[in-house]
Amino acid sequence: MSDYTQMWKDLGLNLEAHDMLLNVLGNAYKDIYLAQKNRPEGMGYFDFVMSEVHGLRIKELLDEKAQGRKIIGSYCVFVPEEIVLAANATLVGLCSGADFAVEEVEKYLPRNTCALIKSAFGFKLGKVCPYLESADMVVGENTCDGKKKAYESLGSLIDNLYVMDLPQMKSEQGKALLKGEYYRFKQAVEKLTGVAITAQSLKKAIQTVNAKRTAIHRLSELRKAVPTPISGLDALLANQVFFYDNPARFTESVNKICDELEKRIQDKQGAVPAKTPRILLSGCPMAVPNWKLPWIVETSEAVIVGEESCVGERGTRNLVDESIGGVNATDNDEMIDKMMDAITDRYFKVDCAIFTPNQERLNHIVEMAENYKADGVIHYGLQFCQPYIMESIPVEKALEGKNIPTLRVETDYGMEDAGQLKTRVQAFIEQLR
Ligand code: SF4
Ligand code: SF4
Repeated sequence: MSDYTQMWKDLGLNLEAHDMLLNVLGNAYKDIYLAQKNRPEGMGYFDFVMSEVHGLRIKELLDEKAQGRKIIGSYCVFVPEEIVLAANATLVGLCSGADFAVEEVEKYLPRNTCALIKSAFGFKLGKVCPYLESADMVVGENTCDGKKKAYESLGSLIDNLYVMDLPQMKSEQGKALLKGEYYRFKQAVEKLTGVAITAQSLKKAIQTVNAKRTAIHRLSELRKAVPTPISGLDALLANQVFFYDNPARFTESVNKICDELEKRIQDKQGAVPAKTPRILLSGCPMAVPNWKLPWIVETSEAVIVGEESCVGERGTRNLVDESIGGVNATDNDEMIDKMMDAITDRYFKVDCAIFTPNQERLNHIVEMAENYKADGVIHYGLQFCQPYIMESIPVEKALEGKNIPTLRVETDYGMEDAGQLKTRVQAFIEQLR
């Protein structure tokens, strides 16, 4: 691995704290990912990406910046990558998947704030995230109350924070609000980049992001096989890297793994034996390096076959209608407006628990459990996350109505509850047998 010390220093990272983070991350990756057996060869690409996640990928982004391209960071799947790409900028996910600088964080946020929000602050206060420090704009969104209020404080730490408002109901008014916000975001991105979005550039961006999501759909489809050809941990990693990697390279790499998995399925070669209990995970997003629960499940002789999560199917499931405007479409406001409608339609379908009512999500979980032939569902709620924890009760009821066993867990990023969690998960898996 090259020496990136100077690059990190130039970004203003706290080198000592950053080294510590990389150490913990590297060890966790070794123990959780590299210890798995029978992995597809194509995962070598993702192992490489993870080994260079603060190195080569950052260097690539800084090279892009040197050529005038802007970098935009985001915390939520409601931020449309299509608009960012169309203005010749790059969107990166800001992870929020680990605790950092907790004491400092609690000077800004109450203790009973979810780990995801605390983590966003911890990475900023600890000066350990090169993505955050490279970003020319950081987008927050008014989703849950926690995030909404936290961005007011985060704004005092990040001078380029842009806050996007989001609707809470799936009504016509809600959709109009989302479209209005996407137009406001388009303007802000155009101002940042100095690039006016055209019908052609927007169409091309829609196609690029659709291709990325289609590759993930292909991967998900293959996980339905019995035995499933890839572990849940490996599939989760692909879903996590979705937020960081160059889109075209990511699409190609996932499709390459899918070719290999198709061959595995033909040869009846599974990542685990066919009789291994199959689990669907549902709930809060699992950002890098939050692998705790999947690791517990998959070291308890079960396999995860799907994620009903924003780092999973909730985030990737729908495509933007790309039939609007041909390659030679004229660059006019009407065409752009139709595409903005198509983008709004796509994102408006995301069934995050911040929406009320949210029956669509309950239906989708049941549908996923059936389609992925899951023997049981584990609902994962981050402690203090009201939207998902509250919704876990109707989720359990909807699944019970279909005789699908469900386990509701509440946890955080710490390892203190790992033993207790493992006991509960093992008992649940035993019940599924
Ligand atoms: S769970 Fe909701 S707030 Fe969180 S990333 Fe998903 S859509 Fe955004
Ligand atoms: S996990 Fe829950 S509380 Fe935390 S940011 Fe997401 S929706 Fe908000």
